[in-house]
Amino acid sequence: MTIRLFDTATREVRDFNPITPGEVGIYLCGATVQAPPHVGHLRPAVAFDVLRRWLTRRGLKVTLIRNVTDIDDKVLAKSAAAGREWWAHAALYERVFTEAYDALGVLPPTYEPRATGSVPEMVALMERLVDKGHAYGTGEGNVWFDVRSWPAYGELTRQKVEDLSPEEGAEVATGSASDAKKNPHDFALWKAPKPGEPESASWETPYGRGRPGWHLECSAMARRYLGETFDIHGGGLDLRFPHHENEQAQSRAAGYGFAQRWMHVAWVTQSGVKMSKSLGNGLLVSELLKEAPAPVVRYALAAVQYRSMLEWSPDTLDEARTTWERLSGFVARASERVGDVPAEEVAKAEVPDAFAAALDDDLNVPQALAVVHEHLRAGNTALASGTDATVRSELVTLRAMLDVLGLDPADPQWAASTDDRYAAALDGLVTAELKARAEARAAKDWATSDAIRDRLAAAGIEVQDSADGARWALS
Ligand SMILES: [Zn+2]
Repeated sequence: MTIRLFDTATREVRDFNPITPGEVGIYLCGATVQAPPHVGHLRPAVAFDVLRRWLTRRGLKVTLIRNVTDIDDKVLAKSAAAGREWWAHAALYERVFTEAYDALGVLPPTYEPRATGSVPEMVALMERLVDKGHAYGTGEGNVWFDVRSWPAYGELTRQKVEDLSPEEGAEVATGSASDAKKNPHDFALWKAPKPGEPESASWETPYGRGRPGWHLECSAMARRYLGETFDIHGGGLDLRFPHHENEQAQSRAAGYGFAQRWMHVAWVTQSGVKMSKSLGNGLLVSELLKEAPAPVVRYALAAVQYRSMLEWSPDTLDEARTTWERLSGFVARASERVGDVPAEEVAKAEVPDAFAAALDDDLNVPQALAVVHEHLRAGNTALASGTDATVRSELVTLRAMLDVLGLDPADPQWAASTDDRYAAALDGLVTAELKARAEARAAKDWATSDAIRDRLAAAGIEVQDSADGARWALS
């Protein structure tokens, strides 16, 4: 059983052999916390959550780092527009992202470092690059990586510096006009403050006061938490260039092995176009969670193989909802018949070979879901005409597979979602009782109205009368 994963760097699916047997170090580029997340932001997190769960079930000890970019141009611009301190703005949206990750059942990373928490490591890396002749300060706080000094630059995305258009990946100096860089594709390790930026948003360095360039933080934090060389680096497809190219160049130029494999998660598209804020406000995670239970949203994001574009259409959630209801419906009915299966038993259960083979094959979730559906059919057949033992074994197998995808309907994570229909049914019944009570009261039929109240109280429901009518709550 070998896990095979596509490597963006070599453009082939190849065997995955961890550097340290039994352990895996993964660095996933996280959010720039400047605005609320839409599904496009969450897709890489969900894909890597499935990868992590699968590697863990395969017996590997996974260390997953997902950073928080809490200082950059956008954070500064958006916070200024909102009239907030930049750090308060970043903290606000970091919390919103955390809520979205939690809502979709994305397990917390092993560590979740903020860029601003690793400034000394970034400055040390920058000094190392300057000492080795791969970077230069131009005064005023700007420090540039010299792409001409590193012949392997462009290796990750198979581009040559000469072939890049002048504006591709190029950054503009933020200091004075004289603060020029040598080559248009030299990228910022450190940026001079722009006029009007708050003092608190820059740090002293040997090259002047400034703030981190985005790429530097990931190189510094990957080394801090995963070591000089680590197994997998991932992120959204749009991060390949310039972000990941630059990360790799600066880490390797500093003498570190850096990522041994690159994994990129494709976009969420609408009508074939990458989702963006202008298109995708309706696809804010907070909005989608009003339309559908959280596991339905997760299913929609997880069901497509991570390297394929996920076309989000009006049907996407409906289809996911139908499937989720079939899966959770079977788990509910089977559990009613044979009793709840302990989570530990589900965690230890063997998954079918075909399911394992699908996930071992570059995380082929659609193929794995086909195996899930075979067992769902077998489970439903067993419910209709099989023995309790067959029902139970299908229940355990199905839950074990869904657990790998983070979609086990019996997981307490989804309890609120699976209870939705119960809550709606209860509300319907109690509302009918309260209507009958209101009619009895209007007719001064106190005996009936009291009887209804007592019946509800006996069921654990407390009725409160108010000017707007009766309200109810669980007592
Ligand atoms: Zn990064």
